Amino acid sequence: MGDEEKSPLISVVCPFFNEQQAVAKFFAVLLPQLRTLDTEFEIVCVNDGSSDNTLQLLLDARQIEPRIRVLDLSRNFGKEAALTAGLDFAHGDAVIPMDTDLQDPPEQIPVFVQKWREGAEVVLGRRSDRSADSWSKRVSSGLFYKLHNRIAEVALPENVGDFRLMDRRVVEALRRLPERRRFMKGLFAWIGFRTVEVDYVRPPRVAGKSTLNGWTLWNLAIEGITAFSSAPLRVLSYIGLVVALLSFTYAAFIVGRTLVLGIDVPGYASLITIVLFLGGVQLIGLGIIGEYVGRIYAESKQRPIYVVRQLFENNQNGSRDL
Ligand code: UDP
Ligand code: MG
Repeated sequence: MGDEEKSPLISVVCPFFNEQQAVAKFFAVLLPQLRTLDTEFEIVCVNDGSSDNTLQLLLDARQIEPRIRVLDLSRNFGKEAALTAGLDFAHGDAVIPMDTDLQDPPEQIPVFVQKWREGAEVVLGRRSDRSADSWSKRVSSGLFYKLHNRIAEVALPENVGDFRLMDRRVVEALRRLPERRRFMKGLFAWIGFRTVEVDYVRPPRVAGKSTLNGWTLWNLAIEGITAFSSAPLRVLSYIGLVVALLSFTYAAFIVGRTLVLGIDVPGYASLITIVLFLGGVQLIGLGIIGEYVGRIYAESKQRPIYVVRQLFENNQNGSRDL
């Protein structure tokens, strides 16, 4: 926690991707909440390569509230990378990442800060009611958590998003995880620390529509599983073992039958079925191995997670180039 003499600094980190309809509404709710806190605050806005007017609106907001800092990324890097950028640039003694469509209600911030002051190092916002999300999204995310938590090295808390408060120590721990392909929920869970949960109701998006569609979420799910578990590879070995045992048994049966009954030519149907089945199993296996090789490839390139075009913040020069 911050020094006893000076009031602590709370950083809110928010990624924006084509949110021009939400920017004004977001600040209109967020700023009054922050101003009620008896602490300092800053808002680190990450413009994740928006192609609409979002950046300009953020800069306009800065004119009114100079504690808004704007980090402009060079293109769209995706929400996970944008969040990583925001965490890198946040100075706060406690840092709160949140969505900018008001699905993470700013009214929770004072509650989070209170829990932090009582000694929690991580305060998680847990969605007690997800009726705002579609039925299919709830079912698929339920299945994902079940599968993930069964096979991965760390369990992900269910119904928890990126909305949380983290102590400076937690943020520093997070920043030491070097992976390029970042599955934030998993990384958050991996670092641990003393955690307290706070329930909140997740409202629908205030404006615009979600860019995280079914396909993106599916890929994120694969990302999460391959990043935190090598169980699929082990399952593959077991499938191989079972198939090999079955085929040995079958081979013994064929040899025995041929010895007793003589040579029997027909068998095209069973032969083609077995060939295709094994071909299929092998291709799936290659796909799974490929998924891990792809990860190794991505990590070995050591590319930066994001590229910053410019940081707009208050200092002598007004803004500075990086
Ligand atoms: N976002 C981002 N980069 C992207 C996609 C989304 O920074 O490539 C931001 C977006 O502006 C919002 C947050 O991530 O603040 C959550 O996005 P969204 O509301 O689309 O996702 P959902 O709430 O449906 O999970
Ligand atoms: Mg949203």
